[in-house]
Amino acid sequence: MLYLGCHLSPSDGFAAMGRTCLNLGGNTCQFFTRNPRGSRAKAIDPKDAEAFRALAAEKGIGTVVAHAPYTINACSKDERTREFALQTLADDLQRMEYLPENLYNFHPGSHTGQGVERGIELIADALNTVLFPAQRTTVLLETMAGKGSEVGATFEELREIIDRVELSDKLGVCLDTCHVWDGGYDIVHDLDGVLTQFDKVIGLDRLKAIHVNDSLNDLGARKDRHAVIGGGFIGLEAFARIVNHPALKGLPMVLETPNDLDGYAREIALLRQMEVA
Ligand code: FE
Ligand code: FE
Ligand code: ZN
Repeated sequence: MLYLGCHLSPSDGFAAMGRTCLNLGGNTCQFFTRNPRGSRAKAIDPKDAEAFRALAAEKGIGTVVAHAPYTINACSKDERTREFALQTLADDLQRMEYLPENLYNFHPGSHTGQGVERGIELIADALNTVLFPAQRTTVLLETMAGKGSEVGATFEELREIIDRVELSDKLGVCLDTCHVWDGGYDIVHDLDGVLTQFDKVIGLDRLKAIHVNDSLNDLGARKDRHAVIGGGFIGLEAFARIVNHPALKGLPMVLETPNDLDGYAREIALLRQMEVA
């Protein structure tokens, strides 16, 4: 089963977001837990969350992905920035309990000059503070492009974070195709090799979601500029291999391409057409 969708806004509620997802031909989606740049989170309406869950069950929307705001940085050298990240993560994980059994993806962070090892320590510390045994959400570390001082552009760095987290059964990884490409993993010419390496270093059982994005830049560019599907260096043929790869079957695949809703609907249809039955 292919689970395809795109990034959507929950500003009119989760149920409305679910209907939009279905209208676009999607059966999964991603949404920000709060304004991606701001800090304030709208209170969750339990009835709306319940309406979304009922709609998802009825219409076959699979696992969905919540995305933490871009502004949080759990491994900043600034203590107040780290404190804000902790508060946001903790609060979001409480809110996610209204939509249980889904995924919560976040950018591990940027070490802002402290070095990768210190960054890894701080990210793991943050996770050890906010994860709780009863949570029904799996928290995903997103593979990063390696822009600036980003932590998590190699599978090894993600592995090191996971190894330091006590409740590591609550952790998974979201593979962003643009980011890994920008980070130097050649998913165009050697998708099998990259996934084999992922399996060796992290374990494919940790892979819980895919961000499906083309890249405006070439392999290893570390730039993180998303392109529309087929409009960048990754290209259509590589995406056909991605949607059909046995190791990725059944994972939520979410578009974060520069598109309006019509563009997303076209890309969802395009990727569905690539599926070899
Ligand atoms: Fe992201
Ligand atoms: Fe992404
Ligand atoms: Zn990106």
